[in-house]
Amino acid sequence: MENKLRFYNTLTRKVETFIPNEEGRVAMYTCGPTVYHFAHIGNLRSYIMEDLLEKTLRYLGYDVKRVMNITDVGHLSSDADTGEDKMLKGAKREHKSVMEIARFYTEAFFNDCGKLNIKTPDVVEPATNCISEFIHMIQTLMEKGYAYEQGGNIYFDTSRLKEYYVLSNHSEQELLVGVRDDVDEDANKRNKSDFVLWFTKSKFDAQELKWESPWGLGYPGWHIECSCISMKHLGEYMDIHCGGVDNIFPHHTNEIAQSESYLGHKWCNYWFHVHHLIEKGKTSKMSKSSGEFLTVSFLENKGYDPLVYRMFCLQSHYRKPLEISYEVLDNMTAAYDKLVKRIAALQREGDVDQGKYAAYKTRFEQALCDDLNSSMALTVLYDMLKEDMSDATKYALAEDFDRVLSLNLTTAHAAKNADQQVDAELESYILARIEERKAAKKEKNFARADAIRAQLLEKGILLEDTREGVKWKKA
Ligand code: AMP
Ligand code: ZN
Repeated sequence: MENKLRFYNTLTRKVETFIPNEEGRVAMYTCGPTVYHFAHIGNLRSYIMEDLLEKTLRYLGYDVKRVMNITDVGHLSSDADTGEDKMLKGAKREHKSVMEIARFYTEAFFNDCGKLNIKTPDVVEPATNCISEFIHMIQTLMEKGYAYEQGGNIYFDTSRLKEYYVLSNHSEQELLVGVRDDVDEDANKRNKSDFVLWFTKSKFDAQELKWESPWGLGYPGWHIECSCISMKHLGEYMDIHCGGVDNIFPHHTNEIAQSESYLGHKWCNYWFHVHHLIEKGKTSKMSKSSGEFLTVSFLENKGYDPLVYRMFCLQSHYRKPLEISYEVLDNMTAAYDKLVKRIAALQREGDVDQGKYAAYKTRFEQALCDDLNSSMALTVLYDMLKEDMSDATKYALAEDFDRVLSLNLTTAHAAKNADQQVDAELESYILARIEERKAAKKEKNFARADAIRAQLLEKGILLEDTREGVKWKKA
């Protein structure tokens, strides 16, 4: 590991050299999706950049164990434990049970991740699998005096901590201003910043999923799941915890408060946060509460390859807000098509120039090690394609860089051509059948004409007789 990875640690507010607890191994945790709806492409920006971090670590030779939770219970509309439960909201919207909603959107999430070449973490754990672990942690926090029961709920007592706002610049004063707009202000809390660990006889009685606990029938708060699920699989010490910047407060702040109070020592050394995706012309981050939001399928229906969106994310730094528009996606599509076409044209046979191969590999690593400068890593790719060296060297480097970039650099062009060939073959078949049907009609053989229409329909092709002649479309 010659190059040392440096990235911005939200905890220390500095770009730092990454040193794991155990040499060569990385314990990494990612806050997973709340599976009440499709992920929007803003959420997926966070997962793409976290995937980049994981793949960079692996590229540098680390043995990474990455864990992700699936929030299928406990996340209320506001991150600050107020409003309606998001899962219940999804179930009501679609007239399904909470578990049906969870199953459907978990699958949809990993489908989207697959299209964006985001690797599935080594461990994926739904919150509803770990209720006994949550209860155990809450019990310990109660015994240690960090939690209290009030009005049927169990709260974490933030006044017990020397420093609560370790991750953010929030102050008690700011928080007081923040809660003024909060119609659901919770009178049970001893301190404004206290948060719920377990709900029982609360106003959220409509909750579909409930479990027995020492405090009565109820369900967990949102924050507790990440502390418990990460410890279950990664132990008491973690190297990197990831999420979007909106997770810094209150979610990650609360995770640190409860985890370190429970453990009695420092928990996670590095906090990695990805900035938001913003739609051009809008000022706030993309969110699902605004009604319409962009999904991977929406982009696909508009004709965009999901990997074009991945490349668009890689072109920008994870710590900057990223503005998206169709215009930039169109430009990125052209750039991506040109890039993969160029790589496809390389002759693979011949010798790899080991010296140049190693030099470019070092440059690529250096870009990534410099606070994950992915746009510089792409520049290194373009530079090496322009370099005076054998095609075989270039091809080998493209293949190697793609272990991190995951843009299907060496396969996309062939796959696209194959798709186009299938489309061209299908079209000529359809046109031949339309001609055959025309001839059948002329001979007044209507049974034959209808049979041809039915055969095409079986293949998903719909014929329409219009004034301008017969037209076809995908059914
Ligand atoms: P959720 O499913 O709401 O828990 O969010 C999943 C992940 O997406 C979290 O890590 C969020 O911080 C992140 N996230 C939410 N909105 C955005 C956005 N507009 N851009 C980038 N990441 C986001
Ligand atoms: Zn989390």
